[in-house]
Amino acid sequence: MAKLGGMVSVADLLLPAPCAICARLPRVLCPDCSAALRWQVRRVERAGLRGLAAHDYDAAISATLASVKERGQTAVWARLTEAVQVMARALRETWPDAAVLCMPSSKAAMARRGVNPALLLCKRVARAAGLPMIGGLNLVRQPRDQAALGLEGRAANLRDSMRFDPPRGFDREVILFDDVVTTGATLLEARRAVEAAGAGLRVSGFCVLAETLRKSPPSHPNESMFSPQAT
Ligand SMILES: [Zn+2]
Repeated sequence: MAKLGGMVSVADLLLPAPCAICARLPRVLCPDCSAALRWQVRRVERAGLRGLAAHDYDAAISATLASVKERGQTAVWARLTEAVQVMARALRETWPDAAVLCMPSSKAAMARRGVNPALLLCKRVARAAGLPMIGGLNLVRQPRDQAALGLEGRAANLRDSMRFDPPRGFDREVILFDDVVTTGATLLEARRAVEAAGAGLRVSGFCVLAETLRKSPPSHPNESMFSPQAT
């Protein structure tokens, strides 16, 4: 298959994209699958860092993210309007004075995808929340793929892998953004990098699309903060 820009195939340009979840044509996220997603922001926490997550990392979210990350269907983000709205509202209500900082992509992922998918989602959420986004967080070395690593392995793999160069005069609290939180190792390394960059710099929390539930104990099923219906 001919490739354009390393990511978009000719078939992608000629055929409508199938639904990210059920793979039926012709919508990138069909109405049935879209309606089956249950966006409900809940409080999460990793190693003392508080966060907000809008969904469990379940099969539907996994398929949605695979469509964006492995097949370049970034148009899926535009279909997640309810997710963006509930995340934006929760962010604004929880940290009204914060700036939002997205997790960086590895060089290998950027070379493969051409974009940082989490950054595209982050822009939508920050804009809807009316909060500024900042950059300046970069990988200073390339960690190994961490899918197969556990909590300690991930932390060791990521230790001192990031550097934060804050914008000039920057003094807001920082909220970290990513698509998924699992062990939290990436977010915790980002917090270390941000807080190492200046005495006044502080990470107050994080916001993610989905949380990988820990197997034991069950993750706070009743701790919903902001349902889609909440005002
Ligand atoms: Zn579908």
